[in-house]
Amino acid sequence: MRGENLLHPELQALCTEFKKQCQAAGLNVGIGETWRTAEEQNVFYAAGKSNAKGDTYQSFHQWGVAFDFFKNVKGQEFNDIPFFQKCGAIASGLGLRWGVKVNGWVDNPHIQYEKFGTIAQLKSRYGTPEKFKATWAAPTPAPAPKPEPIKEEKPMTPEQVRKADEPSDWAKNVCIAAVTSGLIQGDGNGWYGWKEPVTLERLLVIISKPEYDGFIKSVRGA
Ligand SMILES: [Zn+2]
Repeated sequence: MRGENLLHPELQALCTEFKKQCQAAGLNVGIGETWRTAEEQNVFYAAGKSNAKGDTYQSFHQWGVAFDFFKNVKGQEFNDIPFFQKCGAIASGLGLRWGVKVNGWVDNPHIQYEKFGTIAQLKSRYGTPEKFKATWAAPTPAPAPKPEPIKEEKPMTPEQVRKADEPSDWAKNVCIAAVTSGLIQGDGNGWYGWKEPVTLERLLVIISKPEYDGFIKSVRGA
């Protein structure tokens, strides 16, 4: 199959650079086969062009880490050996493998990317091309959200403390009576915690205090 978008993303980028450098050197390259399916490999095998059946995944093309190129001139696609050698040198300069021999002959149009290992290593690491391909699209993790800047907490002024601890209107008289009778003493700094939740044990301690009777009398007018 053709299409550079079928290649491993890293090889796609290298292929783009390869074309750029070839063009800059006056070498008019075209890109041919990239990905090869098992079915296509079987056709090669049946035609005697390859010693490997499709399901053996013996070609780098089947792993998306090889592409073929040609001279992009009609009728001269494959007959200009110096053209392939010059392009091959550019590929080598990019860390790609050119000059692989097949049955004793250099496979001139062929370039492969060996960063992920030999065919045997690809097989042992990934099993099948499909599983290897699944690793290509590994999404880059989303950047961690920026931590919220820590707000510097200024201590409240005594006025703010009193304001924050102001009892509600409907409870104000009772609260005043609680302080007046000595039932509720606060923290000594004007903080009573009027709106704080009260645990059962604290409630029992409050109503068991001797000041409780005076408080009840004062609020009930008895
Ligand atoms: Zn090839």
